[in-house]
Amino acid sequence: MSSEHKRKKSPGDRTRKPGSLLAPDIWERFFQGDRLACARLITAIENHPRLVPIIRDRLIPLQKGGVRIGITGPPGVGKSTVTAALARRTIAGGHSAGVIAVDPSSPFSGGAFLGDRVRMQGLGGDPRLFIRSQASRNGHGGLSPSTPYATDVLDAFGLDRIFIETVGVGQAELDVLTCADLILLVLQPGTGDVIQTLKAGILEIADIILVNKADLPGADLLLDSLKFLFEIGLRKTAKPFPSVLTASALQDKGLDEVHAEIERRIRGLVESGELHEKKRQRLERDIQSAIRDNLWEKFSTLTNARDEIRAVAGRVLENRQSPYPYLRRTCSRVRITFAKEGAKRDDSEKKTVGRRVPKGRAAGR
Ligand code: GDP
Repeated sequence: MSSEHKRKKSPGDRTRKPGSLLAPDIWERFFQGDRLACARLITAIENHPRLVPIIRDRLIPLQKGGVRIGITGPPGVGKSTVTAALARRTIAGGHSAGVIAVDPSSPFSGGAFLGDRVRMQGLGGDPRLFIRSQASRNGHGGLSPSTPYATDVLDAFGLDRIFIETVGVGQAELDVLTCADLILLVLQPGTGDVIQTLKAGILEIADIILVNKADLPGADLLLDSLKFLFEIGLRKTAKPFPSVLTASALQDKGLDEVHAEIERRIRGLVESGELHEKKRQRLERDIQSAIRDNLWEKFSTLTNARDEIRAVAGRVLENRQSPYPYLRRTCSRVRITFAKEGAKRDDSEKKTVGRRVPKGRAAGR
């Protein structure tokens, strides 16, 4: 708990209402553009998942439609260097930028930390740039499950380009990248063989492929193998082939073109309505998963499900006993309980409404 929280202990802290985990003035400060308040909200989301609905309630009306750009690729290919170079161009182009990068302590992040690169480029104190590193929580180098919500915070903070740098190209990154509107895959010469073994999914979702380190030998070979992969029909989706560009982030060459391509793609997404549709689909998934989590929470509390499931699984393994009778029994119990709960809630809501709205006025409307 931060010193701020300790300092402002209120009765709410003791009863541990989720909202009390936030400093009382955090929203006021956030609305005023206080960067510390922005950072604290992200920390709160990371440390207290139950705060997510409360925080998002406040964030959603503030969101201005910041575009999320995922930057992914194997460790060491130059993602941080590329991200820093792109952030710099984004700002020079008149936008504000947020960057969410992996924890520098991750054993998977090969080079220097993004923050260092950005400072090297003289962007450290620029108010139009907000950088945040997130610890990789799943132990496989992927980003924290809170990453999509952290991008919501940055969007509501008024940042219109939000870069999300992931540290690898496994399933965890693919999951995180579902929160991106546009995906840039970074590769480097010598990874020709690597891309054959990459999860095909990452090539399928990439909108732009950047062959970085074009100053090193082998860039042409990599371009050829990419072309070959696409020609033999790796791409089975209806999506157009990704643009393939080359650059040397170290020498700051070719990045103007990458930046221009990103902006061109964004314009295309906006004009075609695709950006809007992507955001809508993301919200749908989000709402579905919130319902799933909520129902599972209720289900497991009401039925002591975790222990029972363990016992049932044991019986399946040891006695070859089917789990379905248990499932049917438990689910029907939960249905009844939910129905009762719903009825109780409806009753109490009716009573409250009855109390709040004077009969005469209600009838008059
Ligand atoms: P990340 O792990 O993918 O984020 O990679 P980094 O951005 O940390 O870069 C890894 C290493 O590659 C660092 O030593 C960079 O200086 C170096 N690097 C980045 N871009 C280039 C480039 O275009 N050419 C060369 N030769 N090295 C580069």
